[in-house]
Amino acid sequence: MPPKSKLGQNFLRDQAAIARIAASLGDVSGQTVVEIGPGEGAITQALMTRAAHLTAIELDHELALRLQVRFSAEALAGKFAVVEQDVLAFDFAAAAAEAGHKMPVAGNLPYYITSPILLKLAENHASLDRAVLMVQREVADRVTAEPGSRDYGVLSVTVQMYGPAQKLFTLPPEAFSPPPEVHSTVFRWRFAPRFAELGVDEKTFLHFARMAFAQKRKTLANNLRAGGFGPEAIQAALAAAGIAPAARAEALAIEELAAVFTRLEAEEPA
Ligand code: SAM
Repeated sequence: MPPKSKLGQNFLRDQAAIARIAASLGDVSGQTVVEIGPGEGAITQALMTRAAHLTAIELDHELALRLQVRFSAEALAGKFAVVEQDVLAFDFAAAAAEAGHKMPVAGNLPYYITSPILLKLAENHASLDRAVLMVQREVADRVTAEPGSRDYGVLSVTVQMYGPAQKLFTLPPEAFSPPPEVHSTVFRWRFAPRFAELGVDEKTFLHFARMAFAQKRKTLANNLRAGGFGPEAIQAALAAAGIAPAARAEALAIEELAAVFTRLEAEEPA
């Protein structure tokens, strides 16, 4: 059965990388781990030996069937279950309730839906503990970027509002079969949302962040003006938060962005 490129099927062949991904989840003994896109099972076995139970979500019917056959003994022993489903439709809350704890997640993601998967995990942060994910290198650069760097933007802020993200290692295309056109990077994301600590509402703040970064070349003030805020309110909010009037959003730490947001809400309630 040839790999389906439209499902992002690039199978990991590097044994050292497989062991590193599983080890990067930390101690998962006694826990249920969720694997996104197990494919032919490259990482599945390594995860299963460390966890009490592995739930693997695979969209491809033939691959799901093959995993079912390959790991039928483990399934019978209650150590493994394959769920043939789109991960974007998976009920993480129900799975966490069944597991009885916040679950660790691992996966070499199908790159064509990386952002929707990251947003799905963010949405389900209450059911999740940490994630070790392989993504396209450029995406990992953006997810883990620090303020002031070229890659820092709305994806960095969105992901990091749900907890710290850290790059672990990068693999060349040859580590996969068939090789993708890009390098791949594994990163770890610990779910520890910052909304309460920063005193901001989740949905409204993320909407504000998208507005702040809407046009990279524009100043933060201009992006906020384009988003409908009045110039006086913007000026006052920036001054109160100690931000230069011509600053760009990419220069602001998450705490500073939250401070501008809070002041602006106070200046000009929506
Ligand atoms: N984990 C395997 C490995 O490392 O060799 C396969 C990784 S491959 C990059 C991505 C896997 O995700 C494929 O098996 C693909 O069929 C599966 N997949 C694609 N879209 C999916 C979706 N929406 N939900 C769940 N799995 C999906």
